[in-house]
Amino acid sequence: DASSLASGAESAPLTLAEVDRMRADFPILDETVNGHPLAYLDSGATSQRPLQVLDAERDYLLHRNSAVHRGAHTLAAEATESFEGARARVADFVGARENEIVWTSNATEAINLVAYAFSNASLGRGAPASSRFVLGPGDEIVTTEGEHHANLIPWQELAARTGATLRVIPIDDDGQLQMVAAEEIIGSRTRILAFTHVSNVTGVINPVERLVALAHAVGALVLLDACQSAPHRPLDLGALGVDFAVFSAHKMLGPTGIGVLYGRGELLDAMPPFLTGGSMITTVTLEKAEYLPAPQRFEAGTQRVSQVIAFGAAVDYLSQVGMQRVHDWEAALGQRLVEGLESIPGITVLGPGPGVERAGLASFVVEGVHAHDVGQYLDDLGIAVRVGHHCAQPLHRRFGVTASTRASAYLYNTPAEVDAFLEGVRGVTAFFG
Ligand code: PLP
Repeated sequence: DASSLASGAESAPLTLAEVDRMRADFPILDETVNGHPLAYLDSGATSQRPLQVLDAERDYLLHRNSAVHRGAHTLAAEATESFEGARARVADFVGARENEIVWTSNATEAINLVAYAFSNASLGRGAPASSRFVLGPGDEIVTTEGEHHANLIPWQELAARTGATLRVIPIDDDGQLQMVAAEEIIGSRTRILAFTHVSNVTGVINPVERLVALAHAVGALVLLDACQSAPHRPLDLGALGVDFAVFSAHKMLGPTGIGVLYGRGELLDAMPPFLTGGSMITTVTLEKAEYLPAPQRFEAGTQRVSQVIAFGAAVDYLSQVGMQRVHDWEAALGQRLVEGLESIPGITVLGPGPGVERAGLASFVVEGVHAHDVGQYLDDLGIAVRVGHHCAQPLHRRFGVTASTRASAYLYNTPAEVDAFLEGVRGVTAFFG
């Protein structure tokens, strides 16, 4: 029970007092690092988990641990009920139906699942597959210059396996997608368009509806990388009209080792499997097998039951706070981050400046100082940020840099932590300047 959470979550904005109360659910936030109170500004990489999530997993392991969908005994039935209950809650959280939620180990695996399903269909495997998944020379896969490597490399590989061509929508100097180019690139040859909802480097929010309209007008499928949006804003995948979407529990108060592939029901049922084996079949002979419908068709082998159950508790926690309030709180922290950074001489923020809508994160470079030195300096002050290319080398190349420092906030961060970070960055420029 998320008893420390505010009630009346629907309307009033989150207050500092509520966030302070909420922080009691996250004991790790009270840690001291290098003699300073921890300021955890790396939730874009992985978030912290509240006691309610840890307790849900422990409670399951203590009282109901069992294999799902298999045993006839009471514990197995209870485990199955909890496992499928979590699927229903995660589905509800993103505006999906239960059979449209496939468990994967993370978002990366979910994207690979779709890419391998296309390859299998192209090889004539996994019948009956819809021709929508068959790719060959002349077909085009479209992605963008701003993607996490997880939403780029599987498409490079799919193109190499099938002879299809990979095309890339460029990014402008402000980190926004070049929509004129997008209109030219997305055309009759496009079979799938894969792009991120929110950039993990610039915090830019891509125009999902416009891109979906462009893709659907030419009969292409759309995959949305929702890794940086599902944790941070209300999301209704059904209303957005995307065909597939992916996200990871560990970025949204849940455990590692569990992620989601969302797919429109009729597409998943017409898509060949990726991994094969137990739990995903109806009839098996020595020569061949017939597959269950989605989602079981894509959940081969013993499942990550305790992680799924903890993920259910994580979306319960977020829902109880209210995703619009989470979004608004973080948007204010994001503006505070960018305004503060832009006021420091020698700092360049990658992507849009203050006033432009962005997620609660910012990546920046300090003139003449390597990102690793920035990160080290901040760590000495107990401030946890991410340094490097954040799995987005092409986007960093676009901005003419090889690495940056990223501060990313979540619902449990405070303006005081952002200010401590900004003070730290001022110290970096003074120390190395
Ligand atoms: N896409 C984006 C935008 C991300 O930020 C991340 C995580 O860093 C991923 C994909 C990959 O997520 P995971 O490593 O959980 O598969």
